[in-house]
Amino acid sequence: MEHVQHWINGQLTAGAPTATAPIHNPATGEQTAELALASSADVDTVVASARKAATAWRSTSLAARTKVLFAFRQLLAAHSDEFSAIITSEHGKVLSDAAGEVVRGLESVEYACGVPDLLKGDFTEQASTGVDVYSIRQPVGVVAGITPFNFPLMVPLWMCASAIACGNAFILKPSEKDPSASLLLAQLWKDAGLPDGVFSVLQGDKVAVDGLLQHPDVDAISFVGSTPIAKHIYETGTKAGKRVQALGGAKNHMMVLPDADLDVAADAAISAAYGAAGERCMAISVVVAVGAIADPLLDAIKSRIPSLLVGPGDQDGTDMGPLITAQHREKVVDYINRGEQEGAKVVVDGRENTSDSGYFLGCTLLDDVRPDNVAYTDEIFGPVLSVVRVDTYDEALSLINAHPFANGTAIFTRDGGAARRFQFDVQVGMVGVNVPIPVPVGYYSFGGWKSSLFGDTHIYGPEGVNFYTRRKVVTSRWPDPGSSKIDLGFPTNGDH
Ligand code: NAD
Repeated sequence: MEHVQHWINGQLTAGAPTATAPIHNPATGEQTAELALASSADVDTVVASARKAATAWRSTSLAARTKVLFAFRQLLAAHSDEFSAIITSEHGKVLSDAAGEVVRGLESVEYACGVPDLLKGDFTEQASTGVDVYSIRQPVGVVAGITPFNFPLMVPLWMCASAIACGNAFILKPSEKDPSASLLLAQLWKDAGLPDGVFSVLQGDKVAVDGLLQHPDVDAISFVGSTPIAKHIYETGTKAGKRVQALGGAKNHMMVLPDADLDVAADAAISAAYGAAGERCMAISVVVAVGAIADPLLDAIKSRIPSLLVGPGDQDGTDMGPLITAQHREKVVDYINRGEQEGAKVVVDGRENTSDSGYFLGCTLLDDVRPDNVAYTDEIFGPVLSVVRVDTYDEALSLINAHPFANGTAIFTRDGGAARRFQFDVQVGMVGVNVPIPVPVGYYSFGGWKSSLFGDTHIYGPEGVNFYTRRKVVTSRWPDPGSSKIDLGFPTNGDH
């Protein structure tokens, strides 16, 4: 049995674990490896190594850092197939989807390759006579990144590429459900020339996370995961004096206006609801059908579902793989059961498409879902699409704006005015216009509003650079010899 270890100070290490956890292939249900769960002694070891490395790395020139980033980008691209295979075997998503994750992760690295430009400050000459003022950005120090199971490569790359480019040391605490991609990532950073200790991997669960949250030598925490944990991380981390960004869960609505292209809307709903078995924070889980389009749209979505092939992610032709664990499948089934008991109409029943080997669950389509139904209120994170029927645009908008989650949303219409009104009115962080999964490109930033984000800073792109740096403003004077004098007054610009 393979043992998945930590990566500390540039090498694999078993650490001093007090517990282990099994890793399963979700497509077979078989245990494939065993994971060392970090003890608090391991937390101390990794943080000490990162702290030491951070001191040297922040002094490394931008030219040298950029060289590492470009080499890392090439290595990542060259190992795309290997990453996809690892992701599919531990997460379950189909290979083409895993390859897409690699591509989107690469975007964050490509953005970070421009770090010499991104770290440029402002300069004001002669702010006062003989006085110049300028700003600089400096790394925050040691950053810990705690990541979810659903993007075991892309989300770590969202964080570590910018954090490292900005001169920080980065400690990744990956999900304990699919941790192996993190170790190939670590090897590639090393092969690209990154000094030991600048990128580390600490495998583990709550013990590892709580240790990082409390450790005085961790300066900042980036978290992506479910809302209750995001809230816990934000509250605990900020109380311990750290800078924290914590991205949480989602319930993404797709509003379909009566004038929308029916086929475009139905294809988009299917792709965004059932891709990755609904285990995406940007998955569409609610279609809000406005007016007379509801019946034909429901029929169009329903008619497409039988053509979707559910099976192992590494099998040719498979559209949708299994869920991550048996427990998660039970949770999703329980939501369907409760949603039905609370009045939703089960139009397509995924519960009929399960298997004893592997954590498979078919696509479920619910109609007539009311806003107080548990299938509407909660994040299910599975292949379940709810249809809510409303009469007007205003009703649809109020529904979306009343939901506590506000990660992504989309409008489908041929009316430019309605789309523009929607992007103006909707209280959600990422908006698609005829785009069902509006994950921003790497040179924007990603993040929701309300219960989908704790903290002020979105992740990757320009906001990532803000998060991983502290700004300093320098006011400097080089006086002419003999021109200085004592002045106890408050410095003003005046006529100096
Ligand atoms: P999760 O919250 O269970 O776990 C995320 C991380 O937190 C993991 O590394 C895990 O080990 C750790 N963790 C779990 N319980 C903890 C605890 N009690 N104390 C300390 N640490 C703990 O999330 P998940 O199930 O891995 O991922 C799915 C969730 O992530 C969904 O809610 C999804 O919407 C969300 N997500 C959000 C985004 C986003 O950008 N907003 C992106 C991807 C996933």
